[in-house]
Amino acid sequence: MKWEKLFKPIQLRRLTLPNRVMMGSMHLGMEGNKDQEDALISFYTERSGENGPGLIVTGGISVSPEGDGGHHFLGFYRDDDLRVMKRLTSSVHTANGRIAAQLFHAGRYAYSEMNGIPSVAPSPIKSPIHRETPKELNELDILNLLESYAEAGRKAKEVGFDAVEIMGSEGYLINQFLSPRTNKRADKWGGNFENRTRFAIEVLKAVRKAVGEDYPVIFRMSGLDLVPNSSTPEETVQLATKLEAHGADILNIGIGWHESTVPTISMMVPRAGFIEPALQVKEAVTIPVIGSNRINDPVLAEELLQKLDMVSMARPFLADPHLLVKAKEQSLDQINTCIACNQACLDHAFEGKAVSCLVNPRAGREHKWTIKKAAKIKTVVVLGGGVAGMEAARAHAELGHNVTLYEASSAIGGQFNLARKIPIKKEFDETIRYYTTELNRLGVEIYLNHKPTEQELLNHSPDLIVVATGVTPRQPVIPGIEHAIAYPDVLSGNVAVGKNVIIIGAGGIGCDVSHFLIEKGINNILLLRRNGKMGEGLGKTTKWAMLQDLKQNGVKFRTNLSYKEMTKDGLTIINTETDEKEFLKADTIILAAGQESNIPREYELLSQIGVEIAIIGGARLAGELDAKRAIYEGAKIAFEPETISIN
Ligand code: NAP
Ligand code: SF4
Repeated sequence: MKWEKLFKPIQLRRLTLPNRVMMGSMHLGMEGNKDQEDALISFYTERSGENGPGLIVTGGISVSPEGDGGHHFLGFYRDDDLRVMKRLTSSVHTANGRIAAQLFHAGRYAYSEMNGIPSVAPSPIKSPIHRETPKELNELDILNLLESYAEAGRKAKEVGFDAVEIMGSEGYLINQFLSPRTNKRADKWGGNFENRTRFAIEVLKAVRKAVGEDYPVIFRMSGLDLVPNSSTPEETVQLATKLEAHGADILNIGIGWHESTVPTISMMVPRAGFIEPALQVKEAVTIPVIGSNRINDPVLAEELLQKLDMVSMARPFLADPHLLVKAKEQSLDQINTCIACNQACLDHAFEGKAVSCLVNPRAGREHKWTIKKAAKIKTVVVLGGGVAGMEAARAHAELGHNVTLYEASSAIGGQFNLARKIPIKKEFDETIRYYTTELNRLGVEIYLNHKPTEQELLNHSPDLIVVATGVTPRQPVIPGIEHAIAYPDVLSGNVAVGKNVIIIGAGGIGCDVSHFLIEKGINNILLLRRNGKMGEGLGKTTKWAMLQDLKQNGVKFRTNLSYKEMTKDGLTIINTETDEKEFLKADTIILAAGQESNIPREYELLSQIGVEIAIIGGARLAGELDAKRAIYEGAKIAFEPETISIN
């Protein structure tokens, strides 16, 4: 790949960025938490370097106490946080990186239950995703806030940040002033467009004055709010020109408010699916413009950079801190690509937990999971080439151990090989490509279509056997069950599916199978479960979009029932609320009723003769089986061998 733009330096006032990729702001859930200070600093330092992102932007740092966005925020108003920031900038600079502080105020998105301070906003209008109505800011409050932004800018510079980014998008405070949806003021801070933009412009002017003329100021503005009754595309472009006129050095174009019901970064959004607003802004201004959202591949970044000045990639650096190093070295197949699942990043952030990454569980654990050759080289045999086994093999090999992997089927990938058949889950291909490349590069010996005998295992003289043999689909006990087919057969295309379909089980896999069938033109789908809700267990940030999509495609759901009998024509159920019997006609009944662990009992003998055995992933625990836990457990036994228990 010829990089014409990606590694072309760009100048922002006194700051030279060596490439055109910004690591966008992410709240890591470690900020302001003493126990996580080393983790926070190691996280950013790992991503710094000459060929790290051109510029890293921190998660939002509050400019004033009521502006915290939740638990664990750093604040410019807390002395101890300034100490942490100094440590952070110094560590990033020592590693040859560049880092900007994001000046943040949540406005009505703040939670008073976290710090006891009522949230504030231009108008007292509650957000649909919050319980609290914010307090309306008065004139004096606004002037004080401008001073807080200025003070935050001054302090950011003092503690060593290379630039600041003013957070003016995603529906936070500045965005709330800009939008007629949230700004109903009748004074000079609300009403017409000019007045609604006043706060944003005054913040920019105050920060510029505080940091001086040679210091870069990025403004993150919303390119598309994706909420009703908000700023128009014309206003967005006009705002951009005003920001340019008042000294912004570069515009970072954010997409979608947090309360929007349009998915903007999940796997179902096509790559770079929201780039248009950045292109429109670019046409209207002469300062550089940054495009964002679902850009997870340097080749795509290069393509976008033909029209834009920079791209923002945030989650991709969680998945692979060294993605630009690999791009520069032309080792694109070694990149661990972000698959936009949100399961260990955004879902964790919303749960108030530290962020990590499903495909890279080392993210956020860099301080304790250091990559250095092991003092004692082990011989490790991994049974099973699903994600848990692949990660166990990869991580052990990365630490210098000798690894052999046995997979009973004809390909590595396990459940991901099925998941990748779901139209919206094509990104899973990337994970399988990554593991295939890495296992090969790290010299893992792989045997496919092979279940080793105990003797074969002993022939390796293993120090450790990792049992990662995964799961088998649960076969519920229902009379006539032979009339049903298992979901793997459906996803593999091994069986024909009729027009009227019943799916038994309405968890993640039931929902995935529905998507798969919709894409095949089958639209009479009924999802069933005995108790509970549809899609239970799916992550908070993706579940709503997934269920919304299924509903729009006519998928129906029923619960509070028991299964009585299946025939070739359908299924009899009992309504457990009324005790009434009902026959549901179906051409095809599909089982997606969860999983059971698949542990090859014949190897138990090995533990009796003293071979260390670790059981991980679905083989260890099929309930709540999740790729996030499976990959994490694969990495954990390599990085924390002391936690292996002999099973
Ligand atoms: P699951 O989420 O546990 O759902 C299993 C379904 O099977 C439930 O609806 C359950 O409903 C039903 N079931 C369980 N035992 C049954 C029995 N004996 N007879 C009939 N029905 C039974 O499991 P899954 O859908 O197989 O998913 C496995 C894991 O992968 C989950 O952790 C899931 O979250 C994860 N996953 C995640 C995604 C994602 O996009 N993040 C996608 C797919 C899967 P009742 O017990 O109420 O009948
Ligand atoms: Fe990307 Fe998923 Fe990792 Fe988040 S958890 S960074 S979305 S791969």
